[in-house]
Formats: sequence, structure tokens, C-alpha cells
Amino acid sequence: MLVVMQATASPADVERVCEAIREMGYQPLPMPGAQLTTVGLVGNDRRVDGSHIEALPGVSEVIYVSSPFKQVSREWRQANTLVTIAPGVTFGGPDVPVIAGPCSVESEQQIMAAAHTVKAAGAVALRGGAFKPRSSPYSFQGMGRDGLALLRRAKAETGLAIVTEAMDDEGAQLVAEYADCIQIGARNMQNYSLLKTVGRMRTPVMLKRGMAATVQELLLSAEYILSEGNDQVILCERGVRTWDPSSRNMFDLNAIPAVQKLSHLPIIADPSHGTGVRDRVAPMARAAIAAGADGLLIEVHPDPNRALSDGAQSLFPQQFTELMGELVSIAAAIGRRIATLDTR
Ligand code: PEP
Ligand code: MN
Repeated sequence: MLVVMQATASPADVERVCEAIREMGYQPLPMPGAQLTTVGLVGNDRRVDGSHIEALPGVSEVIYVSSPFKQVSREWRQANTLVTIAPGVTFGGPDVPVIAGPCSVESEQQIMAAAHTVKAAGAVALRGGAFKPRSSPYSFQGMGRDGLALLRRAKAETGLAIVTEAMDDEGAQLVAEYADCIQIGARNMQNYSLLKTVGRMRTPVMLKRGMAATVQELLLSAEYILSEGNDQVILCERGVRTWDPSSRNMFDLNAIPAVQKLSHLPIIADPSHGTGVRDRVAPMARAAIAAGADGLLIEVHPDPNRALSDGAQSLFPQQFTELMGELVSIAAAIGRRIATLDTR
């Protein structure tokens, strides 16, 4: 439930509404705006009766949020939330940032080469996992803290923002020391303890859709983060597992406009994991921009055939450079712009 105050409401009027919400056994969340203040009621999972609040002095109207996710919903906040992970790298506005880099940080030489390549092609953020959630315990698990240090060096050399994954509560604190945005991977989309931990932090979060998660479940997971106080959340469509083995996942382009209708949070697309097949990445990246995605996450490796993870879906540098050129025209056709480091 959202209580919209009148423009003329006094601080005492707002406090009276907060008190009434507390008396109902819920938590008030006052949100002062440029013109007027709204007070959210959080903590309910079913409809509450706010008729007595409607009658309090200074109250303009009471809006009932019908969706199970509250703070994440468009009903709660109509304007897009802008998520800025580094100066000039903002998701949810007219500019569309591209995050690119290898699946994993593998060595200094590899991540530096990747960073320079993706920067030259026009990416504004570098990705690369230092902590890797691998299906097999015998697969490369990532370089850990050493990988984070290499990402920091790549940032210092190129100015690219850093996006990298945290797999657990302890890792989230560590990753936040190095990264501009903490990635929560598909396998952890419903790790509620981790979601609450990053919700209590101030670092932006990129939350990937779980392998079999519905759009509603994705938004409910985001709600965990917002409910702890961090609204700097970027959602990411990365495909869902289906019956069809012809691609690694089924990339759900549908989810982009669906989420944009339901939520004010930005949603980006990851056609690399969404397809799992290199030759399908560029077509789906182009389609995602055309569909209105607020950003892209693309795996690019200086030498994909030698990659320690996800080589089959990683673009060769040249492919990525060509793709970025195409994306510029597609974005322009729908009145958007691919973000560049020059626009900072
Ligand atoms: C990744 O981004 O490399 C990754 C592991 O992605 P996902 O969690 O979507 O599988
Ligand atoms: Mn990967």
C-alpha cells in the first residue's frame, strides 16, 4: 500500500500516517519526493485496509499495490529507476551500456587483453568472474581474490567499470571492495540470505534470472534486495532451461518488455548464456537492443578456444567489434544510444 500525501502536508501529517501504519503492525517507509511525499507500507503479503489512513489530515490518496512484489513494482514507483554503477555508466536511462569480457578472469594477460579489446569496441564495463559457480566441482572455480585484484588493475588501466559475481555472503563483502556492481548469478537468484546481504549494502547489484525462474520469481528476488534498502538493482534476462537441447538455454526476449511493464528497475540481456552458442549471440544481442533492453552482458575472450569456461559462447574480439557497430544503428532506430566512455 502507498499513501500519497498532499503537496501541502506537514511533517506532522506524514508522521501521523507513519504512526497509523505502525499501529497496524507494519513498517512505514516515507519517501520524500520533489513535489510530494509518499509513505509506503511494507511487510504485508496480502491486502490491508487503509480506509482510516485515507481519512487522516494531509493524505491525498491510498494506492493498493496489487502485485506480490511491492517496492519493485511500477505501481510503487512509476519512473524508471536509474542505476549508476560508475560515473557515466547508468542503466535505465536513454543510454544503453554494454558490459563485456570473458566468463572468467584467467590470468593477467587474458583479462588485460580482454579489457583493452572491449573498451576499444565501445563497452563501458568489464565483466569476468573471479568466483565461478560451476556445474562440476572439478571445473575451473575461478581465481578468487587474485582475480579481483586483476580486475582492479584492468579498471585502473582502462577506466572500465567492473561487474563480477559474488556467490556467498562473505564473498559479497569482498567483491564490493573491488567491483562497481555485484553480479548475483542464475544459480543464486533464490539464495535469500545472499539477496538480503547485498540488500544491506550500497553497491549496485545485477540480478540474473534463475534457470527455471518465472518473471514473477525474478521480481520477488529483487524485492528481497529492495526490502533491505538497496534499490540499485539491474535485472538480467539470461535464458531459461527448456526441453530443447538445440541451445544451452532459451533466451526469453519476451521478458524484457514484460519486466519493463511490471517494474521500474532496468533490465539487461545476456545473449551469451541465453544461447550458449557463439553464432547466435550477435543476432540475439541485436534483437535485445531492438526489444528495448537497458543494457547488454556479452562474453568476449581474446582466445575463446582456450577459455577455461564458456568458450563456445564467447565472441572473438573481431566479432564483438562488428556487433558494437551494428548496435549503434539499432539503438538509434528506437531513439536510444549505446553508452560510450566519451559520454562520461
Ligand atoms: C556468468 O555470467 O558467467 C554466469 C555464470 O551466468 P549465469 O549465472 O547466468 O549462468
Ligand atoms: Mn559464463
